[in-house]
Amino acid sequence: MRYARSVADLVGDTPLVQLTRVTEGIAATVLAKVEYFNPGSSAKDRIARNIIDAAERDGMLKPGGTIVEPTSGNTGVGLALVALQRGYRMIFVVPDKFAGEKVDVLKAYGAEVVMTPTNVPPDDPRSYYGVSDRLAREIPGAFKPNQFANQNGPRGHYETTGPEIWRDTDGRVTHFVAGIGTGGTITGTGRYLRDASDEAVRIIGVDPEGSLYSGGPVHGYLVEGVGEDFWPETYDPTVVHAYERVSDAESFAMTRRLAREEGLFVGGSSGMAVVGALRVARGLPADAVVVVLLPDHGRGYLSKIYDDDWMREHGFDVSGTRDIRTEGHD
Ligand code: PMP
Repeated sequence: MRYARSVADLVGDTPLVQLTRVTEGIAATVLAKVEYFNPGSSAKDRIARNIIDAAERDGMLKPGGTIVEPTSGNTGVGLALVALQRGYRMIFVVPDKFAGEKVDVLKAYGAEVVMTPTNVPPDDPRSYYGVSDRLAREIPGAFKPNQFANQNGPRGHYETTGPEIWRDTDGRVTHFVAGIGTGGTITGTGRYLRDASDEAVRIIGVDPEGSLYSGGPVHGYLVEGVGEDFWPETYDPTVVHAYERVSDAESFAMTRRLAREEGLFVGGSSGMAVVGALRVARGLPADAVVVVLLPDHGRGYLSKIYDDDWMREHGFDVSGTRDIRTEGHD
């Protein structure tokens, strides 16, 4: 019989899929590593599993323990699907601006969700940092993964994402392209590929316009999960050779093209990463192999990037990828 002993055993080993439509005029091979094939539909399952495994090994998480983390997104789903089926209590602390479907997903997995006011400074005890710190202190046996500092995050990518890409390209990968949020993906995967290739693979970080990583100026932007206004401990910028800066408009247009033209229904940070990857690939010869990581699934963005009205309200052009329902073809 062939079966997984638990859903956590299905994390990783995601496929590489060649991009053939959006790559017109490009000679190099462009391969997408599609992380929505993870059981929680994002790359964050990898760090969740690695962080929990390490916490169990180090004795920081004991049977009956509680995991407390401030997150409303993919990290929460990853932690929930690994932790709850191992019998841990799971508490997510979420700013109230994230109320809605993302939070409902966490509840569906059986997690407890504590809402905190959005409009308080990070050092306020009512803030989501403040509340999660207090819960982690007060609940006996509590463990806080702390995804922006926990080195078992990047290590998870060094041990899984990097080797998978090296194996699946027979060591022929020449460029690795990824967005940067906590920096765990690019730090772990990039470091592995540099090590494995004797420093031959080039690592390119893709950053939203408005993020600190690629040199600012820092301002708001709409693409989710990538860019920051501070330097997290999980990001080692020395791993990255170069940056590509991408606007929300470019990211979202490409996200929609990936669904329609490549059949890859992905989130906005995936579109952003592909814009960066195509800029890199454009000048490369036919024997170059560019791998771009697509972090998550598009389902979490149906009411945003995939909604024509939302796109128009935010000033984005939807011509070319217009929702046909709005044209009366229904
Ligand atoms: N895209 C999305 C949708 C994410 O949730 C994240 C994680 N914050 C990233 C990209 C970036 O990954 P990392 O944190 O490993 O840099």
